[in-house]
Amino acid sequence: MATIELKNVHAEVAEGDEQILHGVDLEVESGEIHALMGPNGSGKSTTSKVIAGHPAYQVTEGEILLHLEADDFDGIEEIPEDARTWDLLDLEPNERAALGVFLAFQYPAEIEGVTMTNFLRTALNAKIEERDELLFGEDEEDEAGEDEAGYDTSPMEGNVDDGEVGVAEFQQLLKEKMELLDMDEKFAQRYLNAGFSGGEKKQNEVLQAAILEPTIAVLDEIDSGLDIDRLQDVADGINALRDEQGTGVLQITHYQRILDYVEPDTVHIMLDGEIVKEGGPELAAELEDKGYDWVREQVYNAA
Ligand code: ADP
Ligand code: MG
Ligand code: MG
Repeated sequence: MATIELKNVHAEVAEGDEQILHGVDLEVESGEIHALMGPNGSGKSTTSKVIAGHPAYQVTEGEILLHLEADDFDGIEEIPEDARTWDLLDLEPNERAALGVFLAFQYPAEIEGVTMTNFLRTALNAKIEERDELLFGEDEEDEAGEDEAGYDTSPMEGNVDDGEVGVAEFQQLLKEKMELLDMDEKFAQRYLNAGFSGGEKKQNEVLQAAILEPTIAVLDEIDSGLDIDRLQDVADGINALRDEQGTGVLQITHYQRILDYVEPDTVHIMLDGEIVKEGGPELAAELEDKGYDWVREQVYNAA
């Protein structure tokens, strides 16, 4: 069971010194769903970006820690003790992702001739390789050398059988994940970005998370611009991530609507770069009723 823990996080824009986050405290465990809500401009996206390590923002104070348990990754028997707590601020974005912290990446502009399938398989293999390097140090099999019988064990250029998920194995994995998410198989054969609708892009985001099996997934406004049917599909997918893979979800949203379908364990409300109020799912409903001004009044009248 993994936990991500933000402690007193202050952040500013890297170019310049405008402070955006003023001491954010937040903890998400795998298997839990947390909603991060707040009005436009309150700092929700900035929070997601500092978790992922976006270079446009600089953390000036506080910590972001990731705690792993020994058996947090399928296929890894035991994570070494000294590789179970990570200060994410010391890691590059791809290293954070390799340890299971997921923020959907925007696909690079349409790439001629690359299918979703190929793209996702490449992403998965890159993640596994990076992860194993972080947890266990350099992969010895990648070092040039000879085995006991004197055979050359140097890796061959382009050799796909190097602990990677091969084409056939990946097809099977993809099939299972698409069934889990109730997605049309044809989807995977399409070219990256080629004519995906807004809703299909959001479903892609959930598919990425299903393939990469993150410990913690940050989903920023995945509900924006979805019609009700597509919202339901995306919500079912998020529930499946939690129920079937034990993923922890930080669901960032302005509106309460998606929370009717993805019930959060905890709701955090952000205002002006701080989390000012927390509660259970009923807090989201109350917010829907009374609006963010109600929170603002409560907070500033109490101060
Ligand atoms: P939210 O996602 O809650 O709408 P954001 O985190 O996107 O809020 O933005 C919080 C505040 O920080 C806003 O006032 C926004 O204008 C400002 N901000 C965010 N990113 C930048 C940036 N790269 N440069 C300047 N200001 C920024
Ligand atoms: Mg700065
Ligand atoms: Mg935002």
